[in-house]
Amino acid sequence: MEKTLLVLFLILFLGRIIWRYVLQQLNIRHLRSHGKVIPPIFQGAIDEATLSKIVDYTCDNSRLETKEDLTEDILELAILFLLLPVLVGKLAGLHLHLIWQILIFFGALAVIGGVVGIPFDIYHTFVLEKRYGFSTITWKLWFTDLVKSVIISAVLMGLMLSAFMAFIIYLPKSWWFWAWIFFTAFEILLLWLFPVVIAPLFNKYEPIKDELLKEKITSLMAQVGLKAKGIFQVDEGKRSKHTNAYFTGIGKTKRIVLYDTLLASHSPEEILAVLAHEIGHWKKKHILKQLIFMIVASLVLLYFIYLIVNWPPLYSAFGLKYTPVYAGLFLVSLYLSCAGFFLSPIGAAIMRRYEREADKMAHELTGTSEPMINALKRLAKDNLSNLHPHPIYVWFYYSHPPLIERIEYLRTMDKEYY
Ligand SMILES: [Zn+2]
Repeated sequence: MEKTLLVLFLILFLGRIIWRYVLQQLNIRHLRSHGKVIPPIFQGAIDEATLSKIVDYTCDNSRLETKEDLTEDILELAILFLLLPVLVGKLAGLHLHLIWQILIFFGALAVIGGVVGIPFDIYHTFVLEKRYGFSTITWKLWFTDLVKSVIISAVLMGLMLSAFMAFIIYLPKSWWFWAWIFFTAFEILLLWLFPVVIAPLFNKYEPIKDELLKEKITSLMAQVGLKAKGIFQVDEGKRSKHTNAYFTGIGKTKRIVLYDTLLASHSPEEILAVLAHEIGHWKKKHILKQLIFMIVASLVLLYFIYLIVNWPPLYSAFGLKYTPVYAGLFLVSLYLSCAGFFLSPIGAAIMRRYEREADKMAHELTGTSEPMINALKRLAKDNLSNLHPHPIYVWFYYSHPPLIERIEYLRTMDKEYY
């Protein structure tokens, strides 16, 4: 059994490396062979120089991602086969309470993973993003961002792991159920608090300043019975010139957030179209649907972990003499993350469906597709988005339909409308 488990892990692990590489190669080759032609839809919106910049930017990013993924894979194997037996042995010898053991164990892994990720982050932010004129962040801001996120994740992870361990110790037969209740409550609380407590630690959020725009937004939102209180602008321009808009929060903290960079680059009509798209996500309850899916999935996962985590072959497959439950959790999480990778197309397909629904809503609310199409073209130009992704790459990873597809979809709606 141990051998089967080990072989299964290695198949999943190597399968992930190979499939990721195949997808990346497909995507880059597709871009190199098709990327020199301006798609007819983008004629006049994008010139030759921008197009070749898009090719370079996409390739540079893809190369960096491959290096980072491979580094993480090597690190994961080193932790699994070299560090894990030593760490588990040492922790067992310290005779600490299990809650301390799980905190030290996952704390150590998080520190190692974080330290290895930092050089990639620095290269991405200060070299690659600078090269293409995106990055505006200072070293000071980068460093304070890092310190804040380390503290926040340490507190949140610490709380979750301690609670999780306490359930396992004190409710050995039913912990999966209580942990599920706890995590669900925790997640809802976080979703609710994120826009008003955590996000403001990193940025300044203010109601939209432009009065004329505000008026138009108010009437747009009144059309669908929403109050315009939840439209904010955020000072992301202090980090980069990328543009974006998103929908976040639940209940009273629900809001639409627009980057200041987006407000600066788009015409009022385009901003309204982008807002109408975000209102579409709001009206169609996309966050709520995602939340319900996560809640159901986490119940299934926790029960599965409960069934498997005390199974001795799981430990002996990786040469562990001791069977502390935190090591079991780590091992199960490795299997789940490999298996989860192969399930990404399901999530991506659902997200793409949501995006189409939101685009449709933008059309319905504004009565025309023209401003949304112009906004998408500008977004592509401002962010150097890949206009020629490989269809299989899109199927596997993309959370939004490719831009050309979105524009064509919006155009067909215009034809139906008139
Ligand atoms: Zn969207």
